[in-house]
Amino acid sequence: MKHLEEYRNPDAVKHYVRRIMETAGRRFTIMEICGGQTHAILKYGIDRLLEDNIGFIHGPGCPVCITPADKIIAAMEIASSDDVIFCSFGDMLRVPAGGGDLLSTRASGADVRMVYSPIDALKIARANPEKTVVFFAIGFETTAPATALAVYKAKMENLSNFSMLVSHSLVLPAVRYILSSPDNGIDGILAAGHVCTVSGYEGYEEIAREFEMPITVTGFEPVDLLRGIYSCVRLMESGKNIVDNQYSRAVVREGNKTARDMIGEVFRVADSEWRGIGIIRESGLVLREEYADYDALKRFGVSAPAVSESNECISGEVLKGNRKPYHCPAFGTKCTPEHPLGATMVSSEGACAAYYNYMEVRDRE
Ligand code: SF4
Repeated sequence: MKHLEEYRNPDAVKHYVRRIMETAGRRFTIMEICGGQTHAILKYGIDRLLEDNIGFIHGPGCPVCITPADKIIAAMEIASSDDVIFCSFGDMLRVPAGGGDLLSTRASGADVRMVYSPIDALKIARANPEKTVVFFAIGFETTAPATALAVYKAKMENLSNFSMLVSHSLVLPAVRYILSSPDNGIDGILAAGHVCTVSGYEGYEEIAREFEMPITVTGFEPVDLLRGIYSCVRLMESGKNIVDNQYSRAVVREGNKTARDMIGEVFRVADSEWRGIGIIRESGLVLREEYADYDALKRFGVSAPAVSESNECISGEVLKGNRKPYHCPAFGTKCTPEHPLGATMVSSEGACAAYYNYMEVRDRE
């Protein structure tokens, strides 16, 4: 608990709030990329503490939210096949697509299991040689190394009853995509520490130069976030378009080479669809040809079908930072965490769920 107390210390919080207010010469708009940071900003009321000086745009860094609906439909189809054990992270089970979700697939008799890592799915495959085990591999650079390792191990072991439905995405191309919009209104960026733990931040340095954008790498606790915002405000005030690493306890400039090498061994970069946003060039990972036997789409002959989304849900605009969840007419009425219409209300990292959970708390105060 020592470190949690350190990074939630009220005196440190007051100190950084004061410094931000003293330093900001005007109101700035900052985009935090990661959904975990969005939740922390709302949960701890950082947006309200700083509302006179800082406006927040919530970026697309929620892996569950951006997993395309067609991949979820494919997941349901594969999970419904005979003798399949379908393994997924818990958050994915309730994400709606095409009028269903993986929980309803399980309720119809499919063997859908929640796991905490692809290595757990690999263990299930070893323990059930008479079944075909499929892992739904989603997430950013943070989860891709473990996925890659699981496929690599499966190939080394000649484990033929294991495969993956891959929907991995890369954060940097999405940041580039958002910044390329001329009316994005963003003055500075908070980069997610956990992603940079793997990827490093050399790519962000290129973005800072190209888009003339200050970027601070930071974490998820209140003191981390406020220190990162303070750093970003200082960079914005001084006009320095560089990257400042305020998460040096976990992040180094070159990232984790071993993890990146493992990703590169198993995956290649490809264009990828982001739910609500569309195709972003070179923003996804697909299995290399050498590992094609572990591609569940090929193994089951399933093509991810095009799916039309609910026309009430504006989660794509929320993910691009153009709209806030409360701008959605369905927010808190037709769409709640119990009955979500869109992925940003389902996921524990989704912006709609964050506003629903923490605006409610505030309104009761
Ligand atoms: S509140 Fe629900 S329907 Fe509206 S944008 Fe968010 S997820 Fe979509």
